[in-house]
Amino acid sequence: MEHLIDPFARAISYLRVSVTDRCDFRCVYCMSENMQFLPKKELLTLEELDRLCSAFVGLGVSKLRITGGEPLVRRGIMTFFEGMSRHLESGALKELTLTTNGSQLAKFAPALAAAGMKRINVSLDTLDETKFAEITRWGRLPQVLKGIDAAQEAGLRVKINAVALKGFNEDELFTLTEWCAERDMDLTFIEVMPMGDIGNENRLGQYWPLADLRDTLAENYTLKDLPLNTGGPARYVELAETKQKIGFITPLTHNFCESCNRVRITCTGEIYTCLGQEGHSDLRGPLRATEGNAPLEDAIRAAIALKPKGHDFDYSRDRLDGQMTRHMSHTGG
Ligand code: SAM
Ligand code: SF4
Repeated sequence: MEHLIDPFARAISYLRVSVTDRCDFRCVYCMSENMQFLPKKELLTLEELDRLCSAFVGLGVSKLRITGGEPLVRRGIMTFFEGMSRHLESGALKELTLTTNGSQLAKFAPALAAAGMKRINVSLDTLDETKFAEITRWGRLPQVLKGIDAAQEAGLRVKINAVALKGFNEDELFTLTEWCAERDMDLTFIEVMPMGDIGNENRLGQYWPLADLRDTLAENYTLKDLPLNTGGPARYVELAETKQKIGFITPLTHNFCESCNRVRITCTGEIYTCLGQEGHSDLRGPLRATEGNAPLEDAIRAAIALKPKGHDFDYSRDRLDGQMTRHMSHTGG
């Protein structure tokens, strides 16, 4: 099979696709409360999503993560997942996975497992009901906890992703860690990124460098670095006491670009070959141009040929150089 190799000899094996810009939450670091969403015709249809993802699988992508917005609020999305299960069955796709806020998991977890999904990431920043409502604005913690229960009952392995926010969930570092250990879930902390126009209000909480978080964690646990490299911005440690895996995603401070194996597609079919850069190419045009996939595959190859060497986020300057004007919910986290 012909594989996608970028100009820096990195093989592209991991595709992340945002299937909607809509969401039933309004997390303060992600969206403004009165978000304007895209008209439906701008979005890739479920059939187009299938064609697009299948084309990437044909070009050697073996891991597919679906994100959003909230992927599980996209109408008919189970049809898409069920369609993708044929690539799992054929062996071409090794992993089909999902990043979700968990609100709809009680409804969808069994069907996701039946479609061949083995693991999911659930975003959860706090275990305090009041704080949860504050940070997500529209989210309700009990609903998400029910969703996580349903996912585990369906046999899905759950990893919790928590955005690290100084003055917000700093005091929950150990509570969150212990809660995940009790439920046999891994936990990954994400450094907050400057994304999109999220309104003028004060952000709840602030930048909390994960190096500081790690030092605090080391006060109670013995941290062992794991050699695991997923080709992305996450680094992992194991807690000797609980055997739990803790991840740190530091897109702003860690130089992970040399091993980058991934590309992202927005819900409108734009491909971003680097999370930290604005450069992108359109795949929706080629996708809609013909029923055949030749123009699409050419456009994919041309986009990969433009994948930059690295990103240029930088918090240390006064101006937030590298600040993204697009929303995380558009590109997918
Ligand atoms: N709605 C789903 C969810 O929340 O998991 C999927 C999409 S969401 C954009 C994906 C991830 O991006 C979530 O874990 C969220 O916490 C994270 N995220 C959103 N805005 C962020 C920001 N400004 N900085 C860091 N992470 C962010
Ligand atoms: Fe929705 Fe996820 Fe963004 Fe929160 S982080 S508003 S759940 S897309």
